[in-house]
Amino acid sequence: MDKKEILSKFSADPERYYKIKLFDDERFERKSCATCKRFYWTIDENRVNCPNHSDDTYSFIGNPPTTKRFDYTQAWKEVESFFVKNGHTSVNRYPVVCRWRDDLYFTIASIVDFQRVMGNKVVFEFPANPLVVPQTCLRFKDLENVGVTGRHFSSFCMIGQHSIPNSDGYWKDECVNLDYRLMTEQFGVDKKEVVFVEDVWEGGGSFGSSLEFFVKGLELGNAVFTEFQGDLSNYKTLDQKIIDMGAGLERFAWLTMGTPTAYDCCFGPITDNLLQKIGIDAKNELLVTYFTKIAKYLEQFSDLSDVRKQAIKSAGLTDDQINKIITPLEGIYLIIDHIRTLIFAISDGALPSNVGGGYNLRMMLRRIISTMDRLSLKFDISEMIDMQIDYLKNTYPELERTREDIKTIIGIESGRYENSKLRMEKIVSKLDQKPGVDDLIRLYESDGVTPDYLKEMKVISDIPSTFYSKLSELHQSKKQKEQDQVSLEGLPDTELLYYGDDPKEFDAKVLKSFDKYVVLDKTSFYARGGGQEPDHGTIGKFEVVDVIKHGNVVVHELKNGMPSDGNTVSCLVYSKRRDSITKNHTSTHILNSSTRNVLGSWVWQHSAFKDEDHARLDITHHSALTDDEIVKIEKLANSIVEKNMSVTIDNFDRGTAEQKYGFKIYQGGIVPVKSVRIVSIEDFDVEACGGTHVKKTGEIKLIKITRTKRIQDGVVRLEFVSGETALNYTKQHDADLIKKSAELKEKTELKEKRQEQKQELREKLPILVESITKSETGTSTVDEIIVDITESGKLNFCCTTSDQYDEFFHISLGEKIIEKDPWMVYCGIFEEGDKIRAIIYSGEQAGKEKKAGDIAKAVSEVLGGAGGGNQRFAQGGGKDTSKKTDAVEKVKSMVLGV
Ligand SMILES: [Zn+2]
Ligand SMILES: [Zn+2]
Repeated sequence: MDKKEILSKFSADPERYYKIKLFDDERFERKSCATCKRFYWTIDENRVNCPNHSDDTYSFIGNPPTTKRFDYTQAWKEVESFFVKNGHTSVNRYPVVCRWRDDLYFTIASIVDFQRVMGNKVVFEFPANPLVVPQTCLRFKDLENVGVTGRHFSSFCMIGQHSIPNSDGYWKDECVNLDYRLMTEQFGVDKKEVVFVEDVWEGGGSFGSSLEFFVKGLELGNAVFTEFQGDLSNYKTLDQKIIDMGAGLERFAWLTMGTPTAYDCCFGPITDNLLQKIGIDAKNELLVTYFTKIAKYLEQFSDLSDVRKQAIKSAGLTDDQINKIITPLEGIYLIIDHIRTLIFAISDGALPSNVGGGYNLRMMLRRIISTMDRLSLKFDISEMIDMQIDYLKNTYPELERTREDIKTIIGIESGRYENSKLRMEKIVSKLDQKPGVDDLIRLYESDGVTPDYLKEMKVISDIPSTFYSKLSELHQSKKQKEQDQVSLEGLPDTELLYYGDDPKEFDAKVLKSFDKYVVLDKTSFYARGGGQEPDHGTIGKFEVVDVIKHGNVVVHELKNGMPSDGNTVSCLVYSKRRDSITKNHTSTHILNSSTRNVLGSWVWQHSAFKDEDHARLDITHHSALTDDEIVKIEKLANSIVEKNMSVTIDNFDRGTAEQKYGFKIYQGGIVPVKSVRIVSIEDFDVEACGGTHVKKTGEIKLIKITRTKRIQDGVVRLEFVSGETALNYTKQHDADLIKKSAELKEKTELKEKRQEQKQELREKLPILVESITKSETGTSTVDEIIVDITESGKLNFCCTTSDQYDEFFHISLGEKIIEKDPWMVYCGIFEEGDKIRAIIYSGEQAGKEKKAGDIAKAVSEVLGGAGGGNQRFAQGGGKDTSKKTDAVEKVKSMVLGV
């Protein structure tokens, strides 16, 4: 829908859309801007232009239009007390990580706090009416402006004033009346300075008129009256009209302080502290002139570098002043802003990474470090975090709890960046031309090279203004889900027995059967969901292989046939499978909280999967897990099992559950229904979950982590088993261990035995050799060695097949014997594994007649194998162990000729 069209339609009927009671009471006049024709309301008779085209634009810099002075902290206190005094409930900020919407990573406006998605519809849920909230909002689309324009932040506090017009809440008249009084009474601004500009707002299929309010050209807020649904040609009034007033807290503070930039009065003492460190005087008159010009030119030029150039020119700054004051100042503002955003994001559980919304955080930290490097600023990041939290905790006391965790994460991430610098240097040195926007995006996306680094390395002088918005779009579109639709029109919601008595055998009526699918009037089959695998079993005589929920209708997928429509069928859920899956599911909850307790507050469930015999939990964490961490996590998880804690299930209204437990309940993602099923393991773990769970943690018996792995940047996977599977796993694991250690023991023993034998042999060998060679003529036996000594000058022979001798023995003995008796032929035959081997030696004289090699060949033939060697030494063997005696006979006949 075209905003301009709506505006011209609404402005054509100001009585209906813009005229409010206040304008009558205070005699506001409706005027059209002499320059742009926009309609606005004012009590200043002399005003001829809208705030954007007035001469007084940003003249509050150096000259605030009130005598009151409120910094960021005090400004919120003023706003809060004003609205509370006027019947509003002050609500704590919601997390900046938008866990309750699956189309947003970060909270971008205060109204988002109260939007919940149901199907394709956005509904509003207010914890109080009317209310006011100091909502920290993160926006990354114009990062290049941060630090430079004096008013752009990567995160800012949106004062959210919200109301539903009913007996508690109010509509336009009261809304604008309050905003007017906030500015004039509470903040002391002269009534003549307040200007309301007619505008419209549209988004998410609804739209309405709005009044933007300005003081001295500074837009403080926008009161949106969300009233219609549809498009301009065809729309109807919403059932629930909403007041959505969002104002910038930083701007309220800035207006009263009149500092050169909003940064000077919104970060607390840290700004002065850092400026002092590098010797810049923030009260320099020159800055007032320069930043007033910047504010003016921002309306006139679309490119930021043009704005800057013009402001420098018309403020008459010298190069020296730019280099010594403006550039370092911009750097410091950027650093402080980015650290503040990181504090909120990490505190609320986001991690810098290269995926999802985490890329913004990585980018910002890298900008901080690059900026410090480029300007040679030696600031301690941890110290800056401390200073900021010390200041912010006045408004946001919850930041104190995560102070150390924030430092840990930023420390790790800074280290990673330092480590990647060498690689980046190489990539940059290969660039042969000045990179364009698309090159910059590619350089960042694939190589992690930030444009700030390129600026630091003087590859580019400015970051193109479209870079951050392009990158933002690229990542924004990724958080979208698709769902295919099955036509189940006209079918009633399936009665879910598994949330009730959960019978494993039940009768049900077939409402519809088609293709291979069956819909029953009621079912105990758990449908695949929340990472839990579906139940299996039978419907009639057919196997159930899958169960899926479409809306509130459960669809069973069957194998090998189908019952007929209208029949009543008996159904059976396989309870062993269900029990195992259930134990794994409760174990997932236990492990999830265990990892958070052991590792840190940044741990969130990224995803989970629970099947019958295995399960896995993916968590957000910066590094791979160490063995020590795994042991600690497993220990804590099993201590919860041992304590036999009660697992209770309660249904709450969504808003009540969020207020009672906070957004940590959304570990498994958003809950698209009004009633939330809360699964609590006493006070150890509380999650919104639709899965099946044990009643007492003791039923799980044991949780065993089988493997962990860093599966992507910022995500670690824990694979685990529980219940019987875990016990079996441990049993198997223990058995494997016992087997392994037994094998090891056997090996060591064998080795020791060999050593002993060798030692024995060393002592025995000389005696053996002595008695063999000294044997008398004829056949004799020495220690199972048969010795044949013939008359001198003829071949002698000795041989053994004894089991007590091994290769080492035969070689040692053979060597020694032929040395002593050159006429000797030695043959040792022994078994080794399933083989039989032969070792042959022929003495110097003997070898001339019978070569060892020939003997080995012949023996091996008998043994059914092959062998060979030289005149003196040979070996061979075969597989036929039954031929041992034949082999000996063969050698003997070869040597002695008998
Ligand atoms: Zn104008
Ligand atoms: Zn769950």
